[in-house]
Amino acid sequence: MKVTKKKPKKEREKMANKKSEKLIDKKGIRLDGRKVDELRPVKMDVGVLSNADGSAYLEQGRNKILVGVYGPKEAHPRHIAKQDRAVIQCRYHMAPFSVDERKSPAPSRRDVELSKVIREALEPAVFLEYYPRTSIQVYIEILQADGGTRCAGITAAALALADAGIPMRDLVVACAAGKAGGKIALDLMDTEDKVGEADVPVALMPNLNAITLLQMDGNLSVDEFNAAVDMALGGCKKLYELQKEALKSKYVSAEEAK
Ligand code: ADP
Repeated sequence: MKVTKKKPKKEREKMANKKSEKLIDKKGIRLDGRKVDELRPVKMDVGVLSNADGSAYLEQGRNKILVGVYGPKEAHPRHIAKQDRAVIQCRYHMAPFSVDERKSPAPSRRDVELSKVIREALEPAVFLEYYPRTSIQVYIEILQADGGTRCAGITAAALALADAGIPMRDLVVACAAGKAGGKIALDLMDTEDKVGEADVPVALMPNLNAITLLQMDGNLSVDEFNAAVDMALGGCKKLYELQKEALKSKYVSAEEAK
């Protein structure tokens, strides 16, 4: 077994900066050929699982995400039930084969944390007060991960909730922007997220113009942070159009099949 000695912090920072510079070339093109303000190619499908009450499948770049929703149904265990509203039980889970080194199938601390932040990003959109003492279950399976899975998971989960016919104030759509190669860039992929300087995931209810998730990982100046949030919101608005198309196309094809 090869044991390598950890390099001193200064040397590691220098290496990270060097790597980071290569993320964007002189013409402003990223490793996957995108411009800084460009989303990865996105594909969304609604109603892909026949056994769940609602479902959606989303690809964003190399991310592949499947969401199944059940409910509203009687809350189990009973003690989680709220007398005046439904609860959302959300599970974000990375499949063992979703990353290049097999991940344990048991929920990691990261899975638990992301389940919570995704639940909190979705809750404001759902009319929970219509269904007291019930639970709505949202299962997000990350089949393949390449950065930005919490955002893509939220976008897909909102589609699956809508597909389940659960009344909502608005859809929720999420997108990250960050800093990679010294530039503010939209929708970071895994390498840009890891080697880059910062990542800012944002979730938005587009019609209510309300942000339901805002996180930041890394270092940004106030101006850079504001620019990243603006860019992420722009990405959310583009994804929202695709969400609406995905929902409409399900109902158009259902009509045609009659
Ligand atoms: P997000 O997926 O929302 O960006 P993180 O910033 O925590 O969340 O993760 C960034 C990326 O790191 C993930 O999308 C995935 O590609 C990768 N990743 C996360 N966990 C693991 C893991 N256990 N093994 C390998 N790669 C991982």
